[in-house]
Amino acid sequence: MSRVKVAVIGSGPSGFYAVSALLRQCEDPLIDIIERLPTPFGLIRAGVAPDHQTTKNVVRAYSKTASEAGVSYFGNVSVGKDVSLAELRDLYDAVILAVGAPADRKLEIPGIDKAGVYGSAEFVGWYNGHPDYVALDPDLDTERVVVIGNGNVAIDVARVLVKGPEEMAASDLPGPVADVIHRSPIKDVVVVGRRGPGDAKFTNVELREMRELDHAVSIVRHEHLPDALPEDLEGRDRRVREKNLQTMEEFAEPDEAMVEEAEKRVHFEFYASPLEILGKERVEGVRFERTEVAEGGSVRGTGETFVIPCGLVVTAVGYRTRSFEGIEFDAKSGSILNTDGVVNGNLYTVGWARRGPSGVIGSSKRDGDDVAGKIAEAHALSGPTGKVGHDGLKQLLQDRKVAYVDFDDWQKLDAAEVERAKSSEAPREKFLSVEEMLAAIGTKSG
Ligand code: NAP
Repeated sequence: MSRVKVAVIGSGPSGFYAVSALLRQCEDPLIDIIERLPTPFGLIRAGVAPDHQTTKNVVRAYSKTASEAGVSYFGNVSVGKDVSLAELRDLYDAVILAVGAPADRKLEIPGIDKAGVYGSAEFVGWYNGHPDYVALDPDLDTERVVVIGNGNVAIDVARVLVKGPEEMAASDLPGPVADVIHRSPIKDVVVVGRRGPGDAKFTNVELREMRELDHAVSIVRHEHLPDALPEDLEGRDRRVREKNLQTMEEFAEPDEAMVEEAEKRVHFEFYASPLEILGKERVEGVRFERTEVAEGGSVRGTGETFVIPCGLVVTAVGYRTRSFEGIEFDAKSGSILNTDGVVNGNLYTVGWARRGPSGVIGSSKRDGDDVAGKIAEAHALSGPTGKVGHDGLKQLLQDRKVAYVDFDDWQKLDAAEVERAKSSEAPREKFLSVEEMLAAIGTKSG
């Protein structure tokens, strides 16, 4: 029997679902998971909000997958730097790009590059302790923040900014980040959507969390709430939006005294499209144009403009995948150009890299099943290919003195993070730099 050799680039949800699908659909596959950071789990570790620990429990299943026979983990290996994609394609029967969508879709408006304006990928990366963003060090010395976008990421950002220390005690918000957020004088967070409440992409569980906050009240303007949803909206979409509108009814025009007395407020502002970031070097406000939504859901400006003064802006308008040399990118969806998961030849893609940044974590499962099926089929047709796989990669990394990390190393690092948080309610205290991580493992020499 010839065992198929597969490299999976990326250890987030889509990578792990691809691995488990390969284990189910191929006979004794040999799978190497290659991850740029020493730490696995991608979005689960650095994207899912620190106070959503239940969502993070899915890593138990991923860890089980990583410990299956035939599966190896190469952390701290950067494809494009330590090893090229072309080399991996030569070494393995198949290569799967499961790199997610780690970069911000940029809001193309004047002033977007001013200090104090952050994309959600970097801002969320910062509060989740992603080593790429520790140095972001945002200045939160402001009373008002504007969050642009009406998806779950916008809600995450608003919630994390207004929750107090005791509400975050059982989260894995890194200590230095908690210090910055909890010392900040933020009083008002304005979450701005270019369309209406019925068009918002929040899921209802996330929206409902906004009524459970200890220090903040959520506010929606009554005049923005529609009488009814468009008739052509059906199924799950309709149910979610109906529930969202019910929740927003609860936020509509709350008692004035309560709003006045509240320590913090989250304002949901709808029908406002960002035109320009105002300020000298640093953001001082955002100019918006009032919009109306035409039939079919498209947005048009009314010509009326207004300014929301603020000292910090986070744009949460979607993500895009990363690029690889020689691989085409689809700018519209923010994904790698592919046909049903096939990029070309022995190169495949899954998850957000394949589809763009949408859906919930489990949505990537079917991509894994699909691509694993295609790889199993291609291997059955080709028979033994003589590809070197795992040993070839190991040799190459050793020759290049790359300090790669295996899954046992990660488990050591994981235990060290848990240990660091022992005296608190937090599940872990993350290491914030690759150097610290490697030191905690007592790494192989680089
Ligand atoms: P998203 O759900 O696609 O939301 C993006 C938002 O940005 C939309 O409201 C969109 O408005 C707005 N937008 C796009 N371009 C804009 C522009 N030029 N000006 C103003 N607004 C603009 O994306 P996301 O919030 O980044 O989330 C990504 C995925 O992760 C989603 O599937 C989300 O559900 C998921 N996620 C889930 C959770 C959770 O389950 N707890 C947490 C975080 C993320 P339009 O609708 O008008 O285009």
